[in-house]
Amino acid sequence: MTQEISMWPIIKRIDDDAQNVAKFVFTKPDAVAEAVLYRYPTYRERTVICCSTQAGCPVGCRFCGAGDAFVRSLTADEIVAQVTHLLALTDCDPREMGRLQIMFMSMGEPLLNLRGLDPAVHALHAAYPNAALLISTSAPAIDYEDVIALSIAVPTVGLQFSVHESTDEARDAALARIQGSTSYDDLKPAQLVIEAATENYELKLKILKQIDAIVAPEVIIVAAATTGRLPATAAASSENCACVTGASATLIGTVPPLPFPSPYVLSGGAPPTEAGGRRG
Ligand code: SF4
Repeated sequence: MTQEISMWPIIKRIDDDAQNVAKFVFTKPDAVAEAVLYRYPTYRERTVICCSTQAGCPVGCRFCGAGDAFVRSLTADEIVAQVTHLLALTDCDPREMGRLQIMFMSMGEPLLNLRGLDPAVHALHAAYPNAALLISTSAPAIDYEDVIALSIAVPTVGLQFSVHESTDEARDAALARIQGSTSYDDLKPAQLVIEAATENYELKLKILKQIDAIVAPEVIIVAAATTGRLPATAAASSENCACVTGASATLIGTVPPLPFPSPYVLSGGAPPTEAGGRRG
């Protein structure tokens, strides 16, 4: 608590009416941060924390208040202090929480502050090894080597991608380019393929290898996973394969900026059919 106070001398709490969501505003002379604490329905069952990585945001999305101004990136200690402050307010030992998700998704673009994010992720993983550490990103055009290295070093790291557009019409058009399919043939023209088969290691490995044989080398393949084996599965399948846990992805391959202007295919819940598209 002493460290949090020295990091953030002024902390304001705002509760929602239902008392299961609380927002916090952390202030110091040269920076501000926001964090949110959720319980579903109890902290012991599932706790979610959203914290900031920057004061303001340099991305500048027009629909977002954080994008109106950018002050500076937060240090690792300033990021970690938000999380430890919120966890101290729960009625549960974090290590005993059934699900604990710490999301870097409030103010700021986390991947534009890797200098603060990387040590913060390592510190949080050391303190809360059961926590999923989810980086919510608009996928800026950066060198992703450090992100990949971070996801390999910390196995609980995941990525969450946001579909941002400046108008409802543009966003609807972007979402309309997501197509579901259970056929390998439909995957051939895609630039991003997200596998969503049932949670079966051998099945997923087989599907990922088949997808890899069909699509072009530059295509990003994303494997959905709830188990820690999938990064290895993805690695075994393709150098361009990423692994997701729920809506998040642990990058383990070469991933360029997301090709949102291009069509991509989301496979359905059932495994793709064996018919067609298989190479070799
Ligand atoms: S990237 Fe996120 S935080 Fe930054 S301006 Fe856009 S919506 Fe806001």
